[in-house]
Amino acid sequence: MIKKGMRRQIVLHYILVVFVALLLVETIFLLAIRTYYYNSIYSKITTHISVAETYVKYGIDERSPNQLEQLLELFNMEFTELEVLTLKGDIITSSTGFQPDRTITTSDVPEAVGGNIGRWVGRQAGTNENVMAVSKMVQINAHDTYVLRYLTSMEGVNKNLLNLTLLSIGIGMAVVSIVLVFSFGLANSIVRPLNNITAVSAQMAKGKFTTRIKGDYRYEIGELASTLNYMADEIVRSNQIKDDFISSISHELRTPLTSIKGWSETLVSGGYDPEETKLGVGIISRESDRLIGLVEEILDFSKLQQNEMKLSMGQVDIKVLLQETLLNIWAKAEKKRIHLLLECEETIFTRGDANRLKQVFLNLVDNAVKFSPEDSSIVLSAERLSSTEMAVTVRDSGIGISEAHLSRVRDRFFQVDALNGGTGLGLAISQQIVELHHGKLEMDSELGKGTQVTVILPLVEVEQEKS
Ligand code: ADP
Repeated sequence: MIKKGMRRQIVLHYILVVFVALLLVETIFLLAIRTYYYNSIYSKITTHISVAETYVKYGIDERSPNQLEQLLELFNMEFTELEVLTLKGDIITSSTGFQPDRTITTSDVPEAVGGNIGRWVGRQAGTNENVMAVSKMVQINAHDTYVLRYLTSMEGVNKNLLNLTLLSIGIGMAVVSIVLVFSFGLANSIVRPLNNITAVSAQMAKGKFTTRIKGDYRYEIGELASTLNYMADEIVRSNQIKDDFISSISHELRTPLTSIKGWSETLVSGGYDPEETKLGVGIISRESDRLIGLVEEILDFSKLQQNEMKLSMGQVDIKVLLQETLLNIWAKAEKKRIHLLLECEETIFTRGDANRLKQVFLNLVDNAVKFSPEDSSIVLSAERLSSTEMAVTVRDSGIGISEAHLSRVRDRFFQVDALNGGTGLGLAISQQIVELHHGKLEMDSELGKGTQVTVILPLVEVEQEKS
């Protein structure tokens, strides 16, 4: 017995379909053969009767007392028994010479009396032999009308039919066996890889993401195997990114904390002049701001992850927003003598959350400053793309991003170089904020040449807004 499961289902379905189809075909075939055999015997007898009937006038002497013998002689047919009956069905004479004192009651006789050719197939009373009876009414002269009844044994035909049936059953069984072997092969070709895939997935579910599905599977199963392998690769990769994030975030947290702790301990020990105290407190305040920024970035990210970021939507003047962004970043750029340029149309508006959009542009310009060499320039521009879209672009001539990294820099926690500081969340957060504004964030970059980040946002005409 096959174990419950897909293998059994496949084999059973195949066998069932083939069995039903064979049963139907063989039944129809055997019925057709039987009908053909029976009909040909019947038509042989009827042809014989109609030929003999044309000779009745010449073949039978009406005045002869041996009229019945002549009738038998004229209508007699090879391999059949001919009975002459009265219209009531009583046997008068028969070609075998044996005349049982019997009345025939089978349906062929009344049919013949009704003017048709009667046909009956069944078991003959007495001998219990399977026979076909064909009866026809024949009028010899104005007074004498008889029923001629031909009887022929169907045993030979039935034996042939039985042999044919046995042969068909044999062929059917052979076909079913072949199908059984094939369906087993097919079921195994599906079930074995699936079992293997299930075993490997179970390993993965237990946290063993280094296991892979081996084997060259084809079609859907091959796709399933490669998707699972891909999933495991991605899990390994994102685990790696998370580990990197934890180590970089700990580093990011430790640096300002060390500085805060150092300065606070120094100041507590006392004995410093106001200038030194001011410097120390200033550092503590700056480092605290850095910590707050870091924690806020992580909080923002978790809010975005849980779809909990609420936008306070309004009309946003992009030029004003970009000017504020540049002012915020000015001091940082100044340290590297980086020129910040703004190219923006006078009136260009979008609908959105001004603070969140500023956060996006600040992050982009901050990255541009971070990854640009000293004495370079960064261009921040805004332009209309169509009647419904605008683009804000941040272009730098910094270190650039390689093609392989470009597709991943917007992944959360991803950093080309973890030593650069940061969390690797900035672009992931920016992209999600832009998408919440029904916009797009696109990146172009060439290693060693520079990077261009474009934010596409919906354009709002001021007149339309006011009306
Ligand atoms: P973070 O700046 O905190 O590292 P981001 O998500 O903002 O995180 O950026 C992810 C990574 O993308 C950066 O670590 C850096 O490697 C790369 N990157 C982003 N912007 C630029 C840029 N303008 N030039 C070169 N590399 C960049």
